[in-house]
Amino acid sequence: MSSAPSEFQIIQRYFEGVGEYDSELVELGIGDDCAVLSPPSNKSLCFSLDTMVEGRHFPKFAPPEKLAKRAMAAALSDLAAMGAVPSFFTLSLTLPKADQVWLEGFSKGLKYMAERYQVSLLGGDTTRGPLTIGIQVHGFVEQGRALRRSGAKQGDVLVVTGSLGDAGAALELLGRELVNDAQNYLLDRYYSPTPRLFEGQLISAYAGACIDISDGLLADAVHIAESSACGLRIELDALPLSEALREFSGDRASLLALTAGDDYELLFSVSENAWKALEAKAGANVFTKIGRVEPESFGVRVFSANQEVNIQRKGFQHFE
Ligand code: ADP
Ligand code: MG
Repeated sequence: MSSAPSEFQIIQRYFEGVGEYDSELVELGIGDDCAVLSPPSNKSLCFSLDTMVEGRHFPKFAPPEKLAKRAMAAALSDLAAMGAVPSFFTLSLTLPKADQVWLEGFSKGLKYMAERYQVSLLGGDTTRGPLTIGIQVHGFVEQGRALRRSGAKQGDVLVVTGSLGDAGAALELLGRELVNDAQNYLLDRYYSPTPRLFEGQLISAYAGACIDISDGLLADAVHIAESSACGLRIELDALPLSEALREFSGDRASLLALTAGDDYELLFSVSENAWKALEAKAGANVFTKIGRVEPESFGVRVFSANQEVNIQRKGFQHFE
């Protein structure tokens, strides 16, 4: 058996050359004390860091390739929420041991995501300890055009991408034997959420406020309401649900869509006129209108068939 690789060998074998970069932008990549960039003068740089800890953000013994994909998707989702174009990332990896099979799988997942989303790994840190994955992503937007949480205005339409609740339903499937297509689909949505980069860039000329839904629609809607000093009305029956979620979760599907986290879809506000233009441009099934922006005194409220839903009683008890 070969001996465990050194830190230097780990970096060289598994992390150098992950993703191609533009040498106009990058003066120096992995291997020195810092990476060095010459950022374009007409752009704003957006960056964001996400950390995932074993046992807290993902189950013990999760497959390393899938973990890499999920960690990358979660990090890239923050760039999507700003309307940014991803450019590069750094990786902080804490490992209990230098397990080559694990590193091989993890590196494969990173490479897949780096190629798919055109980002390159430009540096990081490797240490020993409980399994923890930190990814910092960097991306660019036209100067002053980053989508914030604070731009919602009374009368705007509230819109989401994709479908909601799938990853939340999949929590019940972790570590279980999967028995049908619906279950496979839901688990895939948990491990491989799609960072909505294309959609984020598409809406950047139209949207008011935008956030990615990592903690659940309701919880993240509160962030928009607070930052924008507005109220929000959400229509429970309008939430986009996948076929798989309907099949697996039945009556609980819309409640999961409202409250469960980990979907990494985008929630944004857009004026009525801009929404018409955006809908025409995007085509069917990319975006779903789920509510409206109200005055601040309205708060964040959920309705079904014109009746207000008492979320305190109906929802959270399932998920606390
Ligand atoms: P220093 O001790 O100066 O911080 P390191 O020995 O930690 O440098 O890292 C050497 C080089 O390898 C640096 O360029 C660093 O960015 C890179 N590196 C270390 N760990 C990782 C990792 N997990 N992924 C990508 N690059 C890494
Ligand atoms: Mg150094």
